[in-house]
Amino acid sequence: MRHLFLCAAALAAATTASAQPMPVEHPLLHELAAQVSAERQHATIARLVGFGTRHTLSDTRSPTRGIGAARRWVAAEFAQMSKDCGGCLTVQTPSETVTGRRIPNPTEVMDVLAIQRGTTDPDRVIVISGHIDSRVTDVQNFTSDAPGANDDGSGTAAVIEAARVLSKHKFPATLVFAVLSGEEQGLYGGHVLADYAKQQGWRVEADLNNDIVGNSEGINGVRETNRVRIFSEGTKTVETPAEADKRRYNGGEVDSPSRQLARFMDGLADRYLGNFDVTMVYRTDRFGRGGDQNEMLKAGFPAVRVTEANENYTRQHQDLRTQDGIRYGDVIEGVDFAYLANVTRLNVVAMAALASAPAPPTHVEISGAVSADTTVKWTPSPDAAGYRLWWRGTTDPQWRYSREAPPTGHALLKDINIDDWFFGVSAVSADGWESPVVFPGAAGSWAHEDPPPATSARAAPPPPVKR
Ligand SMILES: [Zn+2]
Repeated sequence: MRHLFLCAAALAAATTASAQPMPVEHPLLHELAAQVSAERQHATIARLVGFGTRHTLSDTRSPTRGIGAARRWVAAEFAQMSKDCGGCLTVQTPSETVTGRRIPNPTEVMDVLAIQRGTTDPDRVIVISGHIDSRVTDVQNFTSDAPGANDDGSGTAAVIEAARVLSKHKFPATLVFAVLSGEEQGLYGGHVLADYAKQQGWRVEADLNNDIVGNSEGINGVRETNRVRIFSEGTKTVETPAEADKRRYNGGEVDSPSRQLARFMDGLADRYLGNFDVTMVYRTDRFGRGGDQNEMLKAGFPAVRVTEANENYTRQHQDLRTQDGIRYGDVIEGVDFAYLANVTRLNVVAMAALASAPAPPTHVEISGAVSADTTVKWTPSPDAAGYRLWWRGTTDPQWRYSREAPPTGHALLKDINIDDWFFGVSAVSADGWESPVVFPGAAGSWAHEDPPPATSARAAPPPPVKR
């Protein structure tokens, strides 16, 4: 969506908000976007297709065919990148042995992760993920060729290219480049990733899950090269019944942290990607379908699904064949590499922006019922130089108005009535990097939070009431 960064005059006319500066322009993000290479991504997918099948149940010992060879190749790519950046990446291969509806015999589901440790806040983690496993028509068929060029060679190539570009830079937060397995058998690799993140004590701020991101011509014949969809849940998968009660009454059904990530990425596309736009879809995934982000959401980690604008179902989960003049199968000819590079740019820019900004504010609360003004409170963090208050009409898709807020964790929006707007607050670094906006209360918080730490002012007993 082309959303509104209104000039001061228009803004003053439109609302009671004070003049709003344009967001800070970060040359680094233009530079990173320019470094993404469609040619290298072509080479990556050609290599992945070359393993014949990457089915989760396929051969793991062959040096040339099957998911084992493919995973080892990815690990070797990450190791080479790490060499080129002075050891900046750690390669990990967490796995779980799984038996399930689509996994009849115990099978090791292994992810390949490259971890780029953050310089100042290493437990805060930004993840990009894609799945390396592939399939044909019969989900249990692990021997036929399953090129999986787009599903999800494209997402895997986005992860690998993001690592190549971002590993040449340093960021305050940790970046994780995640190549997952077992997606087609039941999102097992997403589960392995979520378990690993919990074991490591990561505060996962975002998982950008890229699945089917390289085709620009839909089954409807529409060719759209300048748009990508971002699916995000509106309310948290881990919301409790008590939280749902509160949210139903006061709002928050379209303001989960995952939804704020989608808004954040939409804004970045408008500023940094020229003729490439984000369509936000207010759903966790496509209708009746799922992806590895679901497992992260179940673990309480904000996550979105990135998917091409128009899918072509003759190339998904199909035996390679020609039938009634239609060529079926997920072949490399179905990938538009210029398009995939643009989707990858969006991910790279988003990861760099998230990892450079302070963590999203915590303990955000609003008050102001039966008064003309609204008060916003949050817990100040030493990482943030300042904060920005945002608000929008309750039916607006994007944050619309904003104003600088003091670093005190407390701000009053005079003559802005709490009933008529949705509010949020973002954290801003000294050099202008801004976090996603946080909606107040449990509906919008990035984590299940303990009550705010008592400050001396807050802890002081109330003054005696004169009767
Ligand atoms: Zn997929």
